[in-house]
Amino acid sequence: EPGAHVPALVIGTGYGGSVAALRLAQAGVDVHMIEMGMAWDTPGSDGKIFANTTSPDYRSYWLRTRTKQPLSNFLGFPIDKDVPRYTGILDAEEMGGIIVYQGRGVGGGSLVNGGMAVTPKRENFAAVLPSVDAAQMYSVYYPRANAGLGVATVDPTWFETADCYQYARVGRKHAERSGFPFVFVPDVYDWDYMEQEAAGTVPKSALAGEILYGNNYGKKSLQKTYLAKAKATGRVAVSPLHKVTSVAPASGGGYTVVIDQLNTTGGTTATKTVTADRVFFAAGSVGTSKLLVRLKATGALPGLNSEVGKGWGDNGNVMCGRANHLWDPTGAVQSSIPCSGIDNWAAGGAFAEVAPLPTGIETYASFYLSITKNPNRAQFSYNAGTGNVDLNWQTAWKQPSIDMAKTIFDKINAKEGTIYRTDLFGTYKIWGDHLTYHPLGGAVLNKATDNYGRLQGHPGLYVIDGALIPGNTSVNPFVTITALAERNIEAIIAADL
Ligand code: FAD
Repeated sequence: EPGAHVPALVIGTGYGGSVAALRLAQAGVDVHMIEMGMAWDTPGSDGKIFANTTSPDYRSYWLRTRTKQPLSNFLGFPIDKDVPRYTGILDAEEMGGIIVYQGRGVGGGSLVNGGMAVTPKRENFAAVLPSVDAAQMYSVYYPRANAGLGVATVDPTWFETADCYQYARVGRKHAERSGFPFVFVPDVYDWDYMEQEAAGTVPKSALAGEILYGNNYGKKSLQKTYLAKAKATGRVAVSPLHKVTSVAPASGGGYTVVIDQLNTTGGTTATKTVTADRVFFAAGSVGTSKLLVRLKATGALPGLNSEVGKGWGDNGNVMCGRANHLWDPTGAVQSSIPCSGIDNWAAGGAFAEVAPLPTGIETYASFYLSITKNPNRAQFSYNAGTGNVDLNWQTAWKQPSIDMAKTIFDKINAKEGTIYRTDLFGTYKIWGDHLTYHPLGGAVLNKATDNYGRLQGHPGLYVIDGALIPGNTSVNPFVTITALAERNIEAIIAADL
């Protein structure tokens, strides 16, 4: 309510925000979470909460009038279509040289992501978070995060015969014939549920192509894990369709937080001002960075240091497809949840997931999302003319990622006598180098903040999301975001409260 006072206000309900809310509440602190997206707890007129990837509708995109599908073309034809403007679940945010995909709603990215829950190899951790004690992370916080998220791996016996993973077995065969290590990738999808989908005994989700616009069944999103536990404490309130626009020191101590209430076409219906003793920035790498850069530039938070806005990376994301021979079909029904990948990080700086193309028809295509060791880092800056915060990423900065992915796929193509698909991202375009699913950085740990996420210059303000991580995690990021949040909130509760 306007004028209210809260002990702890959390901006955003993704991984960092959910961990903070649960642990603060368990420590006896009342928490209010502010989320710009919708609650995603009420079915539409078709009886489903979420739309399918094969038929995007008003629920699919955040305030767009036309879809912006990551694979924009198929067999040379553009597949985007008009949709009504609505506070939908997936934001395709165009930031100059890159489109940054993000989840919008209670649960953040967990609503739209593939659920791939990967802990980086210990030997790579020092490059991911150089100031963090690795021994503690791997003995305490990664296990805690994996348990809290409900991470598990596909049953390897079922995998061998499941029709929906024929594409993954083809991916394995091609990887191994070229000498690349093939690995199973853990996930938060309920594997028992998926086996029942395959057996035809439950409503289908992963096997019906659901993923990008939400899974109606099977996926353990944050709504079912951390947020469910947080709400069960009775100390956590969540306000969906509320967007934080300002945080500034309050005269009597604590912080004044300004919040816009939104309607489902994105209009502001009310502006509310509350005070909070502590504010946790958990709006995601882009959301947190944009807020902090603007609040520093406009003088609302003058004490923030010059590291704010720096160190942003795309986790080296790049996509590509390969055209297989007619004797190597990948399956008409493909699980939308990937379960495997090619780990060439040590030899070539790329970890490539064998991804589905859940079109419902046989495509004879193998599709991959590679995470690569791209060293390029971008910076957010405030544009006083437009009032926007811009990111200076250049599309050409993806070239190292393409080069690293090529170390895998040029070799596989040569061995198999196959070629790249050129019809998935436009006409005659091999590389999906226009996007990232994994924005990281912008308020880097031990630079913009102390070594636990306390923002420099303003006691009581914290960053606790992907903005802390300097641009790359060597694998998919959400387990690391969760584990780091678990580490930091434990230290903050012990020392600050
Ligand atoms: P987020 O989860 O992004 O949460 C931030 C929340 O804050 C959002 O709900 C947002 O709406 C809200 N917010 C932002 N600004 C404001 C504001 N001003 N006021 C109020 N609320 C605000 N990662 C993996 O590890 N494995 C995967 O398989 C995987 N697949 C992905 C697939 C897709 C399509 C996408 C988009 C991402 C995927 N990711 C995956 C990435 C992963 O989802 C993100 O790294 C993760 O969600 C980031 O967590 P976070 O806590 O930093 O922020």
